[in-house]
Amino acid sequence: MRAVNREVVLRRPCAGRPVAEDFEVVDRPEPEAATGFVTVRSLYQALDPYIGTRLRGRHMGEPAPAPGENLPGYAVGEVLASGDPDLAPGDLVVGEMGWVERGRMAATAVRKVDPTLSAADHLGLLGLPGLTAWAGVTQLAKITAGDVFSVDAAAGAVGGTAGQIARHLGARTVGIAGGAEKCALVRDLYGFDAAIDYRLEGWVEAYGAAVGKGPTAHFENVGVSVLAPVLQRLQSYGRIVLCGLAEHYHADGPPAQLPIGPLVGKRAQVFGLVVYDFFPRLTEWVAMARPWIEAGTLTLAHDIGEGAESAPGHFERLLKGENQGRALVQMSPS
Ligand code: NDP
Repeated sequence: MRAVNREVVLRRPCAGRPVAEDFEVVDRPEPEAATGFVTVRSLYQALDPYIGTRLRGRHMGEPAPAPGENLPGYAVGEVLASGDPDLAPGDLVVGEMGWVERGRMAATAVRKVDPTLSAADHLGLLGLPGLTAWAGVTQLAKITAGDVFSVDAAAGAVGGTAGQIARHLGARTVGIAGGAEKCALVRDLYGFDAAIDYRLEGWVEAYGAAVGKGPTAHFENVGVSVLAPVLQRLQSYGRIVLCGLAEHYHADGPPAQLPIGPLVGKRAQVFGLVVYDFFPRLTEWVAMARPWIEAGTLTLAHDIGEGAESAPGHFERLLKGENQGRALVQMSPS
């Protein structure tokens, strides 16, 4: 048995957008078995943009963790010991255990997942980002054949999955992403019909050409700098899914201002999306996604940090938008 059990915690409160120096790696005692609890070896820790706002006390009214406390976020891991009859050593589970190599969680707080699917997919395609994409595309925008669907942060886990679902449902898909490498991912790996690099001058015209008469539905992950020009091109009666505001999360100054005139002129429908509403329906999404994953027509790039020590820097990269696909950290040495 290894002598140390590393955990990543805050070493100080985050004054602005979290940076690597806000964190430290500490040695914690090995978790002990207890009735009603499972001890779990973490395989992957998920890093999500919402964790950045959560650490600043700006997410859904939840308080920021204090320095030294467990950090929020989901991990997938292998049960080492179980004090619950429904869970056994070797089971694969998802839960919030802190950014730790080995942790202990209440058995009621973990979800047993299918070990025949990849562990990493349980945090990506089949986890919070995949469910978010499914909810926005199928339950809110209700994409069907003939739709013209656009999405930004399209190389990321939510945007990339949303575009692939829309493609499967028969839509023309246009992804917006920052930089040539991300656009290659969007086009070549995720199979979007077009990828637009919004860092290039003239991207709005390029987007206009790619969407033809305009999008019938748009899935927003970034904020006003993308949504405002997209709205100008939205087809009448178009649908907008407001999912994320990545460019605004850590910006100072007044809240984001959306020009609302075009919403009236276009008779647009706007849907706010909070994935928590759809947690009870995860099995519906897994059933839809499984054949696509097995056929190789639904996939996600993973951007994986190696070891607990990599987590602070990897998280900073995510919050700067420098990740290429689903950001994960492999916490335990394999
Ligand atoms: P991503 O991997 O897509 O990361 C966010 C992306 O946002 C970046 O990679 C970057 O992509 C883009 N971005 C644009 N401007 C900025 C900026 N100023 N700072 C940082 N990033 C920026 O993350 P996810 O796929 O996990 O999530 C996508 C969005 O969905 C996020 O906004 C997230 O908060 C939201 N979300 C919402 C949920 C809900 O319930 N409503 C649930 C889950 C996620 P690029 O370089 O291509 O612009």
